[in-house]
Amino acid sequence: MRTVLILGGTGEARQLAAALPGWRVISSLAGRVASPTLPPGEVRVGGFGGPAGLAEYVRREAVDVVVDATHPFAARMSASAAESGVPLLLLRRPGWTAGPGDVWHRVSSLDAAAAFIAGSSFERVFLTTGRQGLGAFAGLADRWFLVRSVDPVAPPHPPRLESLLDRGPFTVEGETALLRSYTIQLLVTKDSGGAMTAAKLAAARLLGVPVLMIDRPPVTPGVPVVADVTGAVTFLHGLGID
Ligand code: NAP
Repeated sequence: MRTVLILGGTGEARQLAAALPGWRVISSLAGRVASPTLPPGEVRVGGFGGPAGLAEYVRREAVDVVVDATHPFAARMSASAAESGVPLLLLRRPGWTAGPGDVWHRVSSLDAAAAFIAGSSFERVFLTTGRQGLGAFAGLADRWFLVRSVDPVAPPHPPRLESLLDRGPFTVEGETALLRSYTIQLLVTKDSGGAMTAAKLAAARLLGVPVLMIDRPPVTPGVPVVADVTGAVTFLHGLGID
């Protein structure tokens, strides 16, 4: 029986874990979320201790192939995965693209997003970038933020904020009502892609609310990439090791 290690933390990682009958599937989670939705099969939780720790884990568990199905912004884990010493597949959903009616500004990082806000006149900002990285906005004391995250926020964060605890999927109706009720002037999001959290973009379009879109970090060159779970299953079977 062949062993695949799925680096997870996404819906696609959970779906892939369920789509490989006949394989030994180990899913790995970082442990950031207090009550994560768990995939089927074996699950391990917590960092490996850097690239060397991951390579040692892969050897110990006789892993044949690693699938990096982490969130597009989990750049450190992806960099480690590229050095594990066994074949690697990157499962990465496509990013979002602006359509007619969208007013998007693209920036390259959380820091660049904070600088954009500081230089703008937007006073009521909806931050959907997750609770990690809120420190980038901590200096913006003259703006008010609505922050949505799965687990409670912790300092450093902007001084004037209201915290909403929730996790997707979200609906366009719900997101539209939220933007309206908080009189949001700017929506800030990472370019996560996928359907789970895309409703906020449709709501922003409907209401004419501008979006500050944070670009993804670059992927490691040379690593094969598939966009969905079907592509990943096909790739794994094509390796000829099952
Ligand atoms: P990161 O900066 O790339 O990861 C930091 C460290 O956390 C890694 O070096 C690794 O520790 C550990 N880690 C990350 N993902 C892991 C996994 N799947 N299994 C075991 N260890 C893992 O990643 P992050 O942005 O903090 O994200 C953490 C997790 O949350 C990821 O699994 C990601 O899929 C998920 N997530 C992230 C975002 C986001 O916006 N960044 C959004 C939704 C979900 P060691 O170096 O010790 O191995």
